Amino acid sequence: MRYGFADGLRALLILITAALPVAQAQDVQPPGVLIENVRIFNGTSDRLSAPSNVLVVGNVITSISAKPIAAPAGTTATRIQGGGRTLMPGLIDNHVHIFMSASSQAEMLDPKATFASLEAKAAEEARLMLLRGFTAARDVGGPVFGIKRAIDQGKSIGPRIYPSGAMISQTSGHGDFRMPEDRSRRFGGQITAGELMGIGFIADGRDEVLTATREDLRAGASQIKVMAGGGAASAYDPLDVSQYTLDELKAAVEAADDWNTYVTVHAYTPRAVRRAVEAGVKCIEHGQLLDEATMQLLAEKGIWLSLQALDEAPPTASAVTKAKKHTVVEGTDNAFKWARKYHVKLAWGTDLMFVPAQMKNQNTDILKLTAWMTPAEALKLVTHDNAQLLALSGPRNPYPGKLGVIEEGALADMLLVDGDPVANLNLIADPGRNFVVIMKDGKLYKNLLQ
Ligand SMILES: [Zn+2]
Repeated sequence: MRYGFADGLRALLILITAALPVAQAQDVQPPGVLIENVRIFNGTSDRLSAPSNVLVVGNVITSISAKPIAAPAGTTATRIQGGGRTLMPGLIDNHVHIFMSASSQAEMLDPKATFASLEAKAAEEARLMLLRGFTAARDVGGPVFGIKRAIDQGKSIGPRIYPSGAMISQTSGHGDFRMPEDRSRRFGGQITAGELMGIGFIADGRDEVLTATREDLRAGASQIKVMAGGGAASAYDPLDVSQYTLDELKAAVEAADDWNTYVTVHAYTPRAVRRAVEAGVKCIEHGQLLDEATMQLLAEKGIWLSLQALDEAPPTASAVTKAKKHTVVEGTDNAFKWARKYHVKLAWGTDLMFVPAQMKNQNTDILKLTAWMTPAEALKLVTHDNAQLLALSGPRNPYPGKLGVIEEGALADMLLVDGDPVANLNLIADPGRNFVVIMKDGKLYKNLLQ
């Protein structure tokens, strides 16, 4: 079927209609939620507040006080008796791949799988993620725009999603998911299913990198994800390799910079990271194989490090992948130690993929952080600090407003924890039992106290 003028006009009308504000009835007060008698972990402190009351109107925390708070006149406030439990900001995971975390590689390669069937599983995974207490997630690669839109429109349930869109990779790079027999498009090959679905773009040279970056920005990416070095889960690229020339990396940075947002790169080694920093990249994903000097460079330049406490490869992985993953896991201890020693801007994420049964580790991974920091510091990292990285998207931030803290004027993403997670971080590991209230954007998604 040809795409004619009428189709173009229809698409334009759809776009214009989508941009119009939804008509709202006058004089309708936004709903309020009054949470009484809670002790607050505010996202930055190392101890809980005295017993307090918190009022949410619409999607914003409007009042926090040790004195009783009256709901504003005309507001139909839901009251929650906190009973001395702990109110804390929603958790944030800065390294997820929602689309790929909901299915195994075999399920994704199954000829019976369609984009719609895989997306439906990913939407369900997003719902479970919110119910694990994650109210925001930075998705660093994969087709997640449709799921994000459905969540934002209230048609589906899930965290706030900061999407990167398709991961941008050179031929033979960490995002080159072709089968061994597939040839490059340049040399007689076909575009692959992964590229068509929007999992990754294989782009070589300045021109293709510019197009790939702009394609993601056009789709609504809040930041751009580029593969700058070898990876553990990919078939062709050993860990030591650097990916993309300086000029190709600069192309991605320039296109992102024109949209007032930033590029983050997948990279482990000093050489890959140094080149990315030289190109103007603002964030490094992983970095487990960095040396001390490069860690210092990140601190000096104010570059973010989005770090994970990764597990060894699953038993089903190939011997090569297992060996590569082991090297990365071994580097984790130094990476956390040096990042903290030199005060690198540190963010945290999980990077769980292809093993849906392991998604519960999204919570237990937080417990691993106590090898390098106190429970209060770990909670600050996964709330306040992670929110600072989300804010780096500037005008491309899909959810402007303060996240990761409990304070007046902040967006109302909060958990009510049955117990004190600063004293007992293990509470975080069992969200089904211990998160008795989950609120995102002022809306209650779970309330066991009603
Ligand atoms: Zn990843």
